[in-house]
Amino acid sequence: MKLTIIGAGPGGYETAIYAAKRGLEVVLIEKDELGGTCLNRGCIPTKAFLASYDVLKAAEEAANFGILLPEGEIKADYPAILERKNKVMTSLIKGIYFLMDKVGVTVIKGTGSLKDKNTVLVTKEDGTEEEIKTDYIILATGSVPAKPGVFKINGKNVITSNEVLDLPEAPKSMILVGGGVIGCEIGQFLHAMGTEMTIVEALPRLVATMDEDVSKQIARQFKKEKIKVICDDGIAEVNPEETSVKVTLASGKELEAEYVLVAVGRRPFTEGLGLDTIGVEKNERGFIVVNEQMKTNVDNIFAIGDIVPSAQLAHVASKEGTVAVDNILGETRAMSYKAVPGCVFTNPELASCGTLEKDLIAAGKEVDRDYKVGTFDFKALGKAQASGHTAGFVKVIVDENDVIIGGEIVGARASDMLQVITTAVECGLTAKQVGDSIFPHPTMCEAVMEAIHDIHGLAISKI
Ligand code: FAD
Repeated sequence: MKLTIIGAGPGGYETAIYAAKRGLEVVLIEKDELGGTCLNRGCIPTKAFLASYDVLKAAEEAANFGILLPEGEIKADYPAILERKNKVMTSLIKGIYFLMDKVGVTVIKGTGSLKDKNTVLVTKEDGTEEEIKTDYIILATGSVPAKPGVFKINGKNVITSNEVLDLPEAPKSMILVGGGVIGCEIGQFLHAMGTEMTIVEALPRLVATMDEDVSKQIARQFKKEKIKVICDDGIAEVNPEETSVKVTLASGKELEAEYVLVAVGRRPFTEGLGLDTIGVEKNERGFIVVNEQMKTNVDNIFAIGDIVPSAQLAHVASKEGTVAVDNILGETRAMSYKAVPGCVFTNPELASCGTLEKDLIAAGKEVDRDYKVGTFDFKALGKAQASGHTAGFVKVIVDENDVIIGGEIVGARASDMLQVITTAVECGLTAKQVGDSIFPHPTMCEAVMEAIHDIHGLAISKI
C-alpha cells in the first residue's frame, strides 16, 4: 500500500517514519526544508534562543550559588547565539534525512498538489514535474503567520515570528503585538538580549489560554525583568517609517520602536494544494475538515497538524499522523484531545493540560462540589530550594470521582513535569492511584505528588 504525504513538518515527517515502520511504502513531499515550521521557524529555534537566555540568567546569578565569574559585565554575544541556533537546526535537519533514508521513505523536494484522489503532482524547483500514483494521501502543509492588514507587515521593520528569528542583532526596541505563547517566549528572550520590549495584548491578561493564576505569575516575572506589558488594548494604527515604527493603540496611547513584531496567531496554509480540484472540504476559517480518524470528506485523503482545526502544536500534529496511519491500516482509532499538553517555555515555564479551572467555572461548575483542586508551591520543596527554582506552583484538578481531569504547572521544567498529569488525564487515573506511586526524592516532580495529596488534604509539606 502506498502513502503520499504532502508537507514535512513534525506532522508529515514523523508520520512518514511511523508509516514506514508499519510497513507502508511512503513518499514524502516538501517544498522547503524538512522539519517544517517547528524545526526551521518555530519550536526548535526559539528553544535554542531560550537556552541562551537560561545560561545568561544562570551566569548573572552565579554569585548566589557561590560561583565567582571573572570581573566584568556578563554580556550576550548575539551573532554567536544566532550561529548556535542555526547549528542546532542544521544538525536536526540532517538527522531527519538520516532517519528517512534508514526507514526507506522516498523524499521528493517540490510543491505537491492534488491532481485527482490517487495522483499527486510534484512541481520541482527547476520547473520539472513528477506524477505520483498513490493509494492514500495525508495532507500536512501546516500554517503561516496570520497577517491582518492593520499591522502593515512589511518584513522589514514590521515583522512576524519568521523574520525575527534571523535578525542579525537584537533590536534596540520592539513593540510585540500578542501576549500569547510565541509573544511571551520571544519577548522575554529579546528583552534579556538588550531589546527595550513592550508587549501589547488585546485580552485582559498574558497567556489567556491558561488560568488566571498562571498569567499572574508570568506577569509578575515580566515586571521584575522590567518588560513593559500593556493588556486590554488593541492596535488602532501602525505606521512604519524608515528607521522606526509608530503605533497608535485603541486607547489612543502612542508608542514608537525600532521594530514591531506581530504574533497574533497562525492561519492554515493550503495554497496551491488543489483542494478544490477534488472537493476537499474546508471550514469558514480555511481549516481542512476531518473526522475523528483524521479523514477528510474524500475517503482516501487524510489531513493532520496545523491545517486542521485542533491545537496548533507539533506534538498534536504528529499524534494526529499516527492516528491517520492506523486508520489507513484498517485499525479504527479516534484521535483523543482529552489531554493536550500546552507549554510556554518562558522563565518560569508554564504548562497546562486537560480541563482547566477557568473552563469549569465558565461551565457553571463549583469547586468542592463538582470538582476539587490540589495545589503546591515550589518554595516548600527541598529540591526547589536546593536548585534555586522556588518560583511557581502545581495545580491538579479532579472530578467528583477523584479522576484527574486537568492541571497546570508554573516553574522550572514545568513542561517536563506536566507529563505526569497528562498521562493521568489521558488514562483516566484517579488522584489516589497517581498519589500511591513513588516519586523520586529530591525532585521538582515531588510538587506534583504533593499537589495530588493536597486534593485529599494530605500534602506533607503544606499546612
Ligand atoms: P508545519 O510545521 O508548518 O509544516 C508544514 C510543511 O509543509 C512546511 O515545511 C511547508 O514548507 C510544507 N508545505 C506546505 N505546502 C506544501 C506543498 N504544497 N508541497 C510541499 N510542501 C508543502 N509547537 C509546539 O508544540 N511547541 C513549541 O514550543 C512551539 N513553538 C513555536 C514557536 C514558534 C515561533 C512558532 C511559529 C510555532 C511554534 N510551535 C510550537 C507550533 C509548531 O511549530 C506547529 O504546530 C507545527 O510545526 C505544525 O506542524 P505541521 O506538520 O502541521 O506543519
